[in-house]
Amino acid sequence: MVQSMPNHEYKMTKFRSIFWHRRDLRIEDNIGLFEASKSSKNLIGTYVLDPNLLDLNRTTSEAKNWFLGESLIELQKNWEERGSRLLILNGDPIILISKLVNLIKAECIYWNENIEPYEINRDKLITDKLSKEKIKVYTFLDQLIVNPSNIKTNNNEPYKVYGPFYRKWIDRINKTNVSNNNLIQISRTSEKIRGIDDKELSLIKNSDLNYCITRKSKSIYDLLYLNRFKDTNLCPCKPGESESIKQLNFFITKGGINSYYQARDIPSLESTSNLSAALSLGTISCRAVWNSAQLSKVIATEKYQINSIDAWIKELAWREFYQNALINFPELEKGPYREKWLNFPWQNKPNWFEDWCNGFTGIPIIDAAMRQLKYSGWMHNRCRMIVASFLVKDLLIDWRWGELFFMKSLVDGDLASNNGGWQWSASSGMDPKPMRIFNPFRQASKFDQDGNYIRKWIPELSHISTANLLSGEILSVERNGYPEPIINHKNQTLIFKELYSKIK
Ligand SMILES: Cc1cc2nc3c(=O)[nH]c(=O)nc-3n(C[C@H](O)[C@H](O)[C@H](O)COP(=O)(O)OP(=O)(O)OC[C@H]3O[C@@H](n4cnc5c(N)ncnc54)[C@H](O)[C@@H]3O)c2cc1C
Repeated sequence: MVQSMPNHEYKMTKFRSIFWHRRDLRIEDNIGLFEASKSSKNLIGTYVLDPNLLDLNRTTSEAKNWFLGESLIELQKNWEERGSRLLILNGDPIILISKLVNLIKAECIYWNENIEPYEINRDKLITDKLSKEKIKVYTFLDQLIVNPSNIKTNNNEPYKVYGPFYRKWIDRINKTNVSNNNLIQISRTSEKIRGIDDKELSLIKNSDLNYCITRKSKSIYDLLYLNRFKDTNLCPCKPGESESIKQLNFFITKGGINSYYQARDIPSLESTSNLSAALSLGTISCRAVWNSAQLSKVIATEKYQINSIDAWIKELAWREFYQNALINFPELEKGPYREKWLNFPWQNKPNWFEDWCNGFTGIPIIDAAMRQLKYSGWMHNRCRMIVASFLVKDLLIDWRWGELFFMKSLVDGDLASNNGGWQWSASSGMDPKPMRIFNPFRQASKFDQDGNYIRKWIPELSHISTANLLSGEILSVERNGYPEPIINHKNQTLIFKELYSKIK
């Protein structure tokens, strides 16, 4: 269970401290870093390239690695501007963190807690090890606006349904002051932090800490170039703390937030914030995002603007809902919340799965979305729901295949939100509506009325009339190499319902 640390009796100390960045790749409004900087002016940052979180076959994507690598480079610069360093190490944190602490003779280490089962377990092992070595560990809750231990039902149980969760979440926020003023105590211009000196740095370089210093170092190079995500300009999420702040400001000041309610479901428009990767890797703080939304509300004059801002806030709450779900039910990571889904007779046809992954199913809205993912590393939320429903309820493929493929493709791949989104779409999760089936043609007609999204991502169909693009009724001679549909939606839906009715 994540819990923020009780208030410490801090004394400004001469002793050396380390701040370990994990999903908080920023300097500003970083609660753990703020607390560390209050107590020690001899402060060194570190980040560990943890192989468990960088596995391209399981836990990350080329796009996410690019986002991570670029964000680390900016973070390193920010630390240097403040007189200290961010030491980027490569390997198992359970070994490296303790080695680093001992090598540079640090007395304390600070970090912000994470919520994924692997990270919770890893951190426990590290904490135990450090405690035995008499190193003080201070941990904080930073990545959620409301502390999960404060969101419980009247029976002190975790929420399983979003609606009541949301009401409690808002209620908790309204009773507190969400400050994003946790500013690192050392500015660029005034007093600087004392960090590692050159002698110590060469000690670190010559140690077995796998220290990576710049773009040229092997590990950062691997992240950015070896497995290179090529179409960075197509990706709407921009890495680094400064870009994330710019993206938030753009969304708020250019009015995106005010028209969100009307525009958020139209995938051809750039109408959402694109902050998902920033929130997931912490290049922006959730409190800064929340407070910007509140500020917009204060200056909004029209009802539709307020509705839009509230709709966006509800999305922030979805993020927190899924993180709470994973904290309270870590078994979600492994499989369906509704156990009867374990008995569903998946057909799992590999060639259908491949067509889905590559955007060659012959159903235009599905293929447009899957190609958006392939080339840009991101997919619009409406389309995530459409392709997920299609994989499960039309292709009869286990939703966990889709979940994994998303993790291996998305720039914002995030266990809690991804698992939550897939379980919602598959109807295997906590959502009380089990039989939600999306008709891809109806979805296209409703949300891509002019066919602009489909045309953008399937250029070989750009000559097809909008009506035919949306209905998928495209003559063979007009297909230009674009495939015939691999399935018939109506037939597959009947099969799905039949199979579903039989599982116990
Ligand atoms: C099958 C499926 C898989 C998904 N996988 C991920 C994932 O791996 N990582 C991820 O961050 N989101 C995931 N989502 C949620 C959502 O699609 C993205 O967060 C959203 O599209 C990101 O775009 P944005 O930043 O412009 O969002 P906005 O619309 O601007 O929303 C603001 C923020 O709220 C959060 N948010 C919005 N919608 C959701 C949602 N439905 N669930 C949880 N958080 C939400 C995100 O942090 C987002 O950045 C998934 C949804 C589905 C249906």
